Amino acid sequence: MQAIRVHVFGDPEVMILEEAPNLEPVDDEVLVRIQAIGVNPVETYVRSGVYRALPPLPYTPGSDAAGIDVRSGARVFVTESLSGTYAEYALCRPEHVHPLPDKLSYAQGAALGAPYATAFRALFQRGGARPGETVLVHGASGGVGLATVQFALAAGLSVVGTAGSEAGIELVAAQGSVRTVDHRRPDHLARALEQAGRPGFDVIVEMRADLNLGQDLAVLAPGGRVVVVGSRGQVDVNPRDLMNSDGAILGMLLPNASATDLDEAWRAVGIGLRDGSLRPVIGRELPLAEAPRGHRLLLERPALGKLVLVP
Ligand code: NAP
Repeated sequence: MQAIRVHVFGDPEVMILEEAPNLEPVDDEVLVRIQAIGVNPVETYVRSGVYRALPPLPYTPGSDAAGIDVRSGARVFVTESLSGTYAEYALCRPEHVHPLPDKLSYAQGAALGAPYATAFRALFQRGGARPGETVLVHGASGGVGLATVQFALAAGLSVVGTAGSEAGIELVAAQGSVRTVDHRRPDHLARALEQAGRPGFDVIVEMRADLNLGQDLAVLAPGGRVVVVGSRGQVDVNPRDLMNSDGAILGMLLPNASATDLDEAWRAVGIGLRDGSLRPVIGRELPLAEAPRGHRLLLERPALGKLVLVP
């Protein structure tokens, strides 16, 4: 089979499409014929060799995908893989293979894994968001951000979402009754409060804490919570801002979620897919051989939904 292999950590071009040995499932492992692969930012950090946990070399990147269970013929999406999903086939534990509803394309199925589990965990399991509260999705135009907006709207939260391009703002606004702000503007948090019609946010789901955490703390409602989902460096904060609101900063990393937490998240995803409140948005599809271009686009472009690779 064809698979992307990484033999040394480095630039995107270290990802090479090559012939790899066929995979043989052992015991209850599931062999999936991949139709679409979700690209996540963490895969760019790992490939460059700067992440806290690195796989032994050589390896095939990827955890999210959708395709066909070879044994049963069922359409499935995959949220983790033993062999890596940037390939024509992947081996998975059965608990990481979920039924893909007919109304979703394979690309949409590949967009579910990390983004929707992260969004659910950030909003509800860490952020404790409740119906009627006001949430700022700080970075709403990407895979995690759009999933967060959709979950928040479905749960009856009042939502403001930010993006850094005109197209991104339109995409966020198209998710439903959500107000939008351009995070390129220096006064964007004041505008976000205006849009919310509230003096502070109950929950902020933050995709770029290194840029925004200091200002986030100053726009929390009493008892407000900032959930740090993404950060690319250090940041200064004034603890007095937290004191003023009895606020809290909560970190989250998806691999810390327990099996019970993940079961809860996938149940919620199943309900949302069935009732139509969750609708993964695909921004771009590229052939698997163009994985290096995909990694560059993911870090450089304005986000417009999910980037997927097609084998
Ligand atoms: P993505 O699709 O590339 O989206 C990135 C998002 O960040 C876009 O909405 C982008 O908006 C936004 N952004 C860029 N500059 C920003 C700024 N100054 N202020 C606020 N937002 C800004 O990536 P993703 O898959 O959604 O992941 C988002 C982040 O979460 C990444 O850092 C990723 O590593 C992290 N993540 C963490 C976990 C975890 O377990 N903690 C799990 C999954 C992902 P524009 O492009 O429109 O400017």
